[in-house]
Amino acid sequence: MSFIVFNGELSKRDTITVDIEDRGYQFGDGIYEVVRVYNGCLFTWKEHVERLYASAEKIRMTIPYTMEEMKVMMDKLIEKNQLIEGTIYLQLTRGIAPRNHAFPGSDVQAVLVAYTRLGERPVKLMEEGVDALIIEDKRWLHCDIKSLNLLGNVLAHQEALDAGCYEAILHRDGVITEGSHTNVSIVSDGTVYTHPANNLILNGISRRVMLKACESQSIPFKEEAFTVDQLMRADEVFITSTTLEITPVRRINGQPAGVEGQYPVIRQLQESFTAAIETECGSLR
Ligand code: PMP
Repeated sequence: MSFIVFNGELSKRDTITVDIEDRGYQFGDGIYEVVRVYNGCLFTWKEHVERLYASAEKIRMTIPYTMEEMKVMMDKLIEKNQLIEGTIYLQLTRGIAPRNHAFPGSDVQAVLVAYTRLGERPVKLMEEGVDALIIEDKRWLHCDIKSLNLLGNVLAHQEALDAGCYEAILHRDGVITEGSHTNVSIVSDGTVYTHPANNLILNGISRRVMLKACESQSIPFKEEAFTVDQLMRADEVFITSTTLEITPVRRINGQPAGVEGQYPVIRQLQESFTAAIETECGSLR
């Protein structure tokens, strides 16, 4: 794992340093993606790279590479680090310039960094579920942008960890938005509900894989917001993310979420998720 992509080149990790005037370092002025690698293959790469370019556009940043160039670089990185199972983290910042809130001139290029990380599927969590804590969503109103500014998410996640939970489930005025680093969905009377993909949540790629699975399995679903009350009365609750795929929520604020250990719809969706991975990246066994 000793190679990274730095500004379009593969470099040894320990030869690269971050400039103290990088706008990502000083302002969190940048965007990122985490992409899952199965069998050395970038799962749902197209969706991730398109979201990256959409995030760039929303913050008025120019990415100095094409999507195709980006893919070539990531594939080279995976090959060089011989990554079979894990993730790629990639970020772009608005470049290096003397500290000033104003955007730098067009001569300043975005800085790209990407590295790999080993990691297996969290099978135990996906099987047994995780505990969650409901916390007020105090973040900004552009949660659809995969921004490096994650302080609101970090604080919420830490509050959940301090309470012995795995994830924070966030609400605005009693309406559930998403998790600190996941999307949240419930199953109520056989229908899957998840917050609509607007500015209040990140439109998770795993959320989209899950919704496609609903479609192919003929499980009714609604991209409709639900309340804390509906969450607490749901039959099943689950979170989705690139690394957690589809993971059941076992307890919320210490109360059982649905019936503990009974996740019939979640199990169906997990199977479809695995099938989607295998279609794109080959057999997982
Ligand atoms: N919401 C937030 C706030 C996230 O940070 C993430 C990703 N870690 C997600 C949702 C899930 O997105 P994805 O499925 O694309 O990983």
